[in-house]
Amino acid sequence: MNKAENSCSGKNCCTPNKSISCTVCECVHHCTGENYCSLEKVKITTHEKNPTECRCVDCSSFAPKN
Ligand code: SF4
Repeated sequence: MNKAENSCSGKNCCTPNKSISCTVCECVHHCTGENYCSLEKVKITTHEKNPTECRCVDCSSFAPKN
């Protein structure tokens, strides 16, 4: 099994949502071969009191692969 075939697991995995581009292939929801998320929607949050730039925000729907 190559990396692309083996890189995605979980519910609805590898049914890419073309509205959610993502390169976090360590996430269980990620479809590595296409660099899209497989979820219908994701929750974006911040870990900062006063976010001022892109790195201040996170995808709270992230879940690690096993
Ligand atoms: S849940 Fe978030 S981090 Fe995970 S694949 Fe979807 S967009 Fe990327």
